[in-house]
Amino acid sequence: MELHFDRAALACRKLRNTYSTCYNLYNSELHDKELFHEKLINDMDKALEEKQFRVYYQPKYNITGDTPVLSSAEALIRWFHPDHGMISPGVFIPLFENNGLIHKLDRFVWDQAAGQIREWKDRFGITLPISVNVSRIDMFDPTLGEELTEIVANNGITAAQLLLEITESAYTDNSQQISAAVSALRSAGFKIEMDDFGSGYSSLNMLTSLTFDALKLDMAFIRNICSDSKAARLVGIIIEIARLLEVPVIAEGVEHKEQMELLKTLGCDVIQGYYFSKPLPPDEFVHLIEKQQKENGYAYS
Ligand code: C2E
Ligand code: CA
Ligand code: CA
Repeated sequence: MELHFDRAALACRKLRNTYSTCYNLYNSELHDKELFHEKLINDMDKALEEKQFRVYYQPKYNITGDTPVLSSAEALIRWFHPDHGMISPGVFIPLFENNGLIHKLDRFVWDQAAGQIREWKDRFGITLPISVNVSRIDMFDPTLGEELTEIVANNGITAAQLLLEITESAYTDNSQQISAAVSALRSAGFKIEMDDFGSGYSSLNMLTSLTFDALKLDMAFIRNICSDSKAARLVGIIIEIARLLEVPVIAEGVEHKEQMELLKTLGCDVIQGYYFSKPLPPDEFVHLIEKQQKENGYAYS
């Protein structure tokens, strides 16, 4: 009986934000999806052991000078599943957030990213900060700060080099508790990038009470900036807000040169997106570091 209720609830959830129909059926398509999701949850531990998860890195370029300069990277997880091929994090991250598995996976990514900063430092003599995603679920863990501090210490890097991306909607879900967690992380030396800015529901007056060190504009804002003057002006206004808050702005999902140039004129500081590069495995990412070193000598300290 309980199973039937669960399935009805699942079918019901599919109706969320649809206003044209008022009923749905639990059909074989939903059933297959449910089985697939259950399989992924069951496979997770083994996948970690068998190194099916790999961390890719997408560069972020500082565009405030004459030429773009590689300034950091974002760590993004990929799952190479033996039966299903490459699975996007958009599929499995929400599943793992529902049952606590995310903690284990995020910890793995943080450790890999910290190790990567160290490895590149030893190999190239530069420190390229890397940002990692911190799931909203992680933010409720009272030992989060200690864990991260341990990870950076074990890898011989500093807290300021492992940047933490926290999605805007996590701030708004439970703002007091999240704000307290963010303050504790910042006191421990970590820098916070507010991710997906504009996709959640921060009210404007809340912005001044939230603390963060950089603002990552949600991709949705970028899509039409070259064809829609209102969209471009809106981005300009958000950049002004960031100026008021005295934090740099990172635009992600930048795919075209025209978008990059317009963002530069609007005062955006950092760009991430396919225009520069897709997320890459470490052995391909090193070519970007080498290229940067050849062009500018050293680009970061
Ligand atoms: P996100 O943090 O907003 O990451 C940006 C996503 O946009 C990435 O998708 C990236 O590959 C994609 N992207 C980058 N540049 C472009 C572009 O120019 N155009 C377009 N269309 N897309 C671009 P990805 O890697 O599939 O990750 C999806 C989401 O999964 C991430 O969104 C993040 O919320 C989550 N995620 C990924 N890795 C992790 C992780 O290690 N831990 C946690 N908690 N979440 C993760
Ligand atoms: Ca992110
Ligand atoms: Ca984002």
